[in-house]
Amino acid sequence: MHNVFRNARKCTSFSRNHQNVQNAVCFPASSSAINRKFSSQGTEPEYDVVIVGGGIVGMAAAREMLMRHPNLKFAVLEKENRLAAHQSGHNSGVIHGGIYYKPGSLKAKLCVEGLHLSYKYFDEKGIPYKKCGKLIVAVAKEELPRLEDLYNRGIKNGVPDIQMVDGAKIKEIEPYCQGLKAVWSPHTGIVDWGLVTQYYGEDFKSLGGEIHLNFEVKDFKVAQESKVKAVAANKKGIQVTASNGQSVRCRYVLTCGGLQSDRLAELSGCSREPRIVPFRGEYLLLNPAKSHLVKGNIYPVGHLILVSHSSVSTLPQE
Ligand SMILES: Cc1cc2nc3c(=O)[nH]c(=O)nc-3n(C[C@H](O)[C@H](O)[C@H](O)COP(=O)(O)OP(=O)(O)OC[C@H]3O[C@@H](n4cnc5c(N)ncnc54)[C@H](O)[C@@H]3O)c2cc1C
Repeated sequence: MHNVFRNARKCTSFSRNHQNVQNAVCFPASSSAINRKFSSQGTEPEYDVVIVGGGIVGMAAAREMLMRHPNLKFAVLEKENRLAAHQSGHNSGVIHGGIYYKPGSLKAKLCVEGLHLSYKYFDEKGIPYKKCGKLIVAVAKEELPRLEDLYNRGIKNGVPDIQMVDGAKIKEIEPYCQGLKAVWSPHTGIVDWGLVTQYYGEDFKSLGGEIHLNFEVKDFKVAQESKVKAVAANKKGIQVTASNGQSVRCRYVLTCGGLQSDRLAELSGCSREPRIVPFRGEYLLLNPAKSHLVKGNIYPVGHLILVSHSSVSTLPQE
């Protein structure tokens, strides 16, 4: 079983340089202890709580739970050889302001709160970001009622400093953009969420959490020999097994599988509903010679989006 860990190298220092961070295979400080347990003893590492999925949701949940319950033992199980290998490392990088969500909904509340907490965290950690703002531009009269609706939602949701601006102000903010009116959200920004996930991982490990990479969960079961005794005694009676045969034990499991979340839910004995419905989108990259044409995030009232993504990981904070 120790072969599983063969290619992993320990992250002794955490570089702020994004390139280094992406290339590093981050591993828990106690990885050697885990190796020994797997190989020589043949015993399974035991935890109070296991989180399946090392995307931003799994890492954020793991970090927060460990901060709230420092006496419990936590582990994250991730099937890839690094954190944030899927959506969390491949998205538009927008720090959303909370304009679109239904007023009063939890999404609206958490998005606005999350914006403030995110910037605070980035500043504390020195994570590069760009608060470049966002314009939602109406180019035809028939789009104005929908734009007005978005503005009112933004006001109700408490989106900071949101404004309705006219054509002249649009030009001032984005000189190459034309429109009748626009919603302007100056605090919307961009960040490398994959990098943020790596930082969450470092926080988690520094608090004593363990991360098992290359651990593709294939099965959850109440361990046969402990069905009666361990579960009744509230011991680590759940066995989580990987596709390579490795396993860990725990008392509680939280699955955060992103696009695999319905499959993991089913595997863990829950309903597969709601199901993940994949759909395809496309990104078009602006020729670098033309990058001055877009300064921030420009959204239509409809569906196409222009996002200024000039390598945010190397951008100075603004
Ligand atoms: C194209 C696109 C653009 C987006 N743009 C933005 C944006 O600009 N701003 C924004 O805030 N959000 C954006 N999002 C949404 C955001 O990226 C997601 O909400 C977020 O990344 C979800 O994180 P996650 O941890 O749930 O999923 P993921 O990042 O997919 O993580 C799930 C993890 O679970 C692991 N896993 C799955 N099955 C198993 C298993 N059996 N065993 C072990 N591990 C397993 C996977 O390997 C993966 O690492 C965008 C999403 C997409 C797709």
